[in-house]
Amino acid sequence: FPRAFEKRGDVRLLADAIGQGDAAVILTVASEVHSAKLKSGKTIQKFRAFDDSGSCEVIFFNSPYIRDIFHVGCVFRFYGKIAYTKVRTVQLSTPRYEPVIEGAPLPDFVPVYPLTAGLTSKYLSRLIAEVMEEAVVAIPDPLAEQIRLDHGLPTLAYAVRNAHFPESEEALSRAMRRLSFDELLSFSLGISLSSHYKNAADGIRIPPASIRPFTDLLPYELTGAQKRAFNDVYRDMVIGDEKKAVHPMARILVGDVGSGKTVVAQMAMYLIAAAGKQAALMAPTEILAEQHYADTEKLFGRLGIPVAILTGSTPQKEKNRVYAGLSDGSIKAVIGTHALLSDKVHFSSLALVITDEQHRFGVTQRAVLKEKSTSELQAHLLVMSATPIPRTLALTLYGDLDVSRIDEMPKGRMRVDTYVVDESYRMRLNDFIRKQVALGGQCYIVCPSIESAEDDGEETQALFTPASISSPFASDAPALKNATEYAENLQKSLPDVRVGLLHGKMKGKEKDEIMQRFAEGEIDVLVSTTVIEVGVNVPNATLMIVENAERFGLSQLHQLRGRVGRGTKKSYCVLVSDLKTEKAQARLETMRTTYDGYAIAEKDLLLRGPGDFFSSNTDDSLRQSGGFDFRFSSLCDDTELMEEAFRTAKAIIGEDPHLQLPKNALLRKKIEKALNADLSLIS
Ligand code: ADP
Ligand code: MG
Repeated sequence: FPRAFEKRGDVRLLADAIGQGDAAVILTVASEVHSAKLKSGKTIQKFRAFDDSGSCEVIFFNSPYIRDIFHVGCVFRFYGKIAYTKVRTVQLSTPRYEPVIEGAPLPDFVPVYPLTAGLTSKYLSRLIAEVMEEAVVAIPDPLAEQIRLDHGLPTLAYAVRNAHFPESEEALSRAMRRLSFDELLSFSLGISLSSHYKNAADGIRIPPASIRPFTDLLPYELTGAQKRAFNDVYRDMVIGDEKKAVHPMARILVGDVGSGKTVVAQMAMYLIAAAGKQAALMAPTEILAEQHYADTEKLFGRLGIPVAILTGSTPQKEKNRVYAGLSDGSIKAVIGTHALLSDKVHFSSLALVITDEQHRFGVTQRAVLKEKSTSELQAHLLVMSATPIPRTLALTLYGDLDVSRIDEMPKGRMRVDTYVVDESYRMRLNDFIRKQVALGGQCYIVCPSIESAEDDGEETQALFTPASISSPFASDAPALKNATEYAENLQKSLPDVRVGLLHGKMKGKEKDEIMQRFAEGEIDVLVSTTVIEVGVNVPNATLMIVENAERFGLSQLHQLRGRVGRGTKKSYCVLVSDLKTEKAQARLETMRTTYDGYAIAEKDLLLRGPGDFFSSNTDDSLRQSGGFDFRFSSLCDDTELMEEAFRTAKAIIGEDPHLQLPKNALLRKKIEKALNADLSLIS
């Protein structure tokens, strides 16, 4: 699919198009092409052209062949930027052009394709157009006709054709609607099909035990909400009567960032260990796993409970020790990353699986982990999520999990004051960093990219990414800050401040070391990508600066903001953005005025569509979160369509729980591909 469209049908007068970014104009050529050599060795080609409102100079570089294209009196539609030069001539530089010919109408929308070296958008577009007419009729439609009619959706063939070469703006939006619907439907089906936890085998009975030995070690009182959540967990897993069967727990712990979910998970692990069984906690990043491990070890160590950590960068020797300890049952609690899913991991008595920040994990991965129990009985499942999920999505996303909400913050938390600023504040911002550090605080700075601008190239102005949300046709997104250069420059500007750099391309060990040094206060300012988005806890951090804030979803910004204000010091969040569109400013304004994660999530859903709740598209280490695409639905701001898709999924599953009917064969295929699994194995 194209990544954007050029709205060439929107032809303007030359005079009105000056300084307006990319624009379409129809001009008559007024002079022959004149070629000259530049100092740089390049050649430049120039000619004049005009319309009723005025005239301009059209220039190209290294294109002597255009002499044979542009002749006096010929009329072309041009598309490009028209601006004043330093000497106040109006200039149209290296535009796209199409001859205007009677009886051969030009398309209103021209697709822009993601490219690679040696491939031009025009060429690709021509190839696609050539195959389109023949191929499109051969595209089978996975949706039953009745469903299409019920929801007013076009055929898939129509949608595909118009997503490439829209007949009109209306046709484009109909196409988008259909393609969004398909994505949402597949996702919803995928979730339902892979979360039949409730119907599973009997669960493992955990005998009653006091939690006091553990809670007595905590330096604070649990909040009421934490106690309620733990009570839910206790009631799910603990049954005194040995003859009674237990349903395996399938519970999600939902709470805003900083609400204190971790300790509830630790209490659950403590119960398991006290019963002589094993618990595993899986975190989405190594940093987070390390942190959970360090926290847990501190407490469990004092209780004599053996805890281990297992990540990709655990040394082989240590790994072997952990594998052995897990299979002989001497290790009671293990904390790790995807490494826990390795074939080498076997448990002697796995009774509880906990995943942190659940939406980062594919549902199948959860299934793999729980299968590692050798017991006939099913392990309990506890999922923690810091992403408040809007009501519209909750049912779908949570599948058949029971919900415990931690809707109360620990006492004494102060609001993180939030500011939205632009580049003109740079000096003041640097002063502010220096001041926070002088006061003994620490600072996070988050940039959207890692190195040079290359790593985001094509995606930057894509139709399907947040920067262009204000308009799919926008092309003036601000340049991206990259963490590497940013850190270097900041260190130069603030020589007394210790600046560190952290990003997803670093080795696990390197990352841990940097994070460790930040946590211990040896680094004052940590410049990073969103690797720190989830879960990291450094209570001494008082300032969060997010660069290119327009690039991030509101919920993501809320997560980032939640990294500060975790201690007793007054904390601040500064969102830096140079994108001045009304919509972009309104989004950031929401962050300034709203502190409730749920309200933000609802807003985010409306502004960005559901994709962000399901898979993060901004960060390296989090990309592998599943095979579902949200490229159309992430633009969809139609909550009704979402609900329709989710309801349809329910109806389909209701009629055909394992998608075995022939009419659902195509849907099944699609979902198996996305889940990367054979559905007959899961269900
Ligand atoms: P999240 O819910 O975002 O995972 P954490 O579990 O990381 O939050 O907790 C955030 C911080 O709050 C941690 O430093 C933790 O020690 C602290 N904390 C948790 N519960 C309480 C409480 N009841 N009182 C005071 N501090 C708490
Ligand atoms: Mg957490």
